[in-house]
Amino acid sequence: MSHADNRIESTLLRRINERRLLEAIQRHGPSSRAALTRVSGLTAPTVSKAVDSLLKRGLVEELEPVEQSLGRPGRLVRMAADSAAVLGVVIDAGTCCVVATGLEGTVTEERTVRFPTPASYAALLDAVEAACRAVIQGHGAAVHGIGVSVPGLVNERLQEIVFSPNLHLLDKHNPARDLEQRLGLRCVLVQESDALVLGERMSGDAQDLDDFAVLDAATGLGLGVMSGGRLLAGHSGMAGEVGHITAVADGVRCGCGNRGCLETLATDAALLRLLGEKLGRPVGLDEAAALLDDRPGDFQHEIRTVTEYLAIAIAAVINIFNPTTLFVHGRLLAGSPERFARVLERVKQRTLTASLADCAIVATKSSKRQGSIAGIIHHLTNSWAPSIR
Ligand SMILES: [Zn+2]
Repeated sequence: MSHADNRIESTLLRRINERRLLEAIQRHGPSSRAALTRVSGLTAPTVSKAVDSLLKRGLVEELEPVEQSLGRPGRLVRMAADSAAVLGVVIDAGTCCVVATGLEGTVTEERTVRFPTPASYAALLDAVEAACRAVIQGHGAAVHGIGVSVPGLVNERLQEIVFSPNLHLLDKHNPARDLEQRLGLRCVLVQESDALVLGERMSGDAQDLDDFAVLDAATGLGLGVMSGGRLLAGHSGMAGEVGHITAVADGVRCGCGNRGCLETLATDAALLRLLGEKLGRPVGLDEAAALLDDRPGDFQHEIRTVTEYLAIAIAAVINIFNPTTLFVHGRLLAGSPERFARVLERVKQRTLTASLADCAIVATKSSKRQGSIAGIIHHLTNSWAPSIR
């Protein structure tokens, strides 16, 4: 083996160790070098060298030593929270947002900027760029990258959103690539259902799960699946489009052009449409939530219809993917314990008994905002070195 080969091999090995350490810190939170040595299975000198390298690159930071009653005070190593930042951009029908966090990924309201989704792609890019610049300026730390959560079909081979049924201005575009050019920062495109999966795994209840799914029943009906510790992608990254399964052969027109898709019947958006039809005027999400809480008797039929189809969607996911946990994202049904309990009653009727017995169904704690942040942190960790598990 030549000197050059040797050098490449040792650089790769060093990076793999550093990644292992990054993952240990992400998983266990602020830890002493001694604790990292224990949980990583690496030797103390290797841990020390890897920590020094990660410190130099600004990915982790050391906390001032805390006084301990016994022994020497230990310095804790944590993901860089003050000195480094990542941004999350959520592009959605209705409202977009930009949030900044440290590399530990804690999302807060005061570092979030929201704005109505502009009507054209050019205006959208301008608005996102302006919000990113404002957030970066407010934060002041070195920005390592931006995760961009988008609705629709993301083709990973073509690196574009090929088709976005609920936000057509994104069709054939890649806002992450365009933002990267404008801002000169690494930007990654994350399909919003995958973002929810990554968010749930990073900071929700799925931290120790390798087989779980997130069903997003808010605007569209999206599905993200973690199978054997990997995101289910399919040939081009477009797998999981459960929302466009036909549920009513001649139903209402869907954003995809077809009729009677499951997402026209099983989502918050579907319930808003039905409430609007009943009242003869458009109804917003906040008003709908209040109406359903205050006058549930007046909207029994509408609630029952969407409950039934959401149960069908949940049953389909459980029957097909056999997850240990299914997280359901949404406000009007999944966000109300009482109405969600009724959905779960219907799920029992629709799901194979053995598959249902294997699966917990819970409302998700994560959000697309958290997911966009998890998407960029996931990318930074992955691009640091390949994983050996
Ligand atoms: Zn459709």
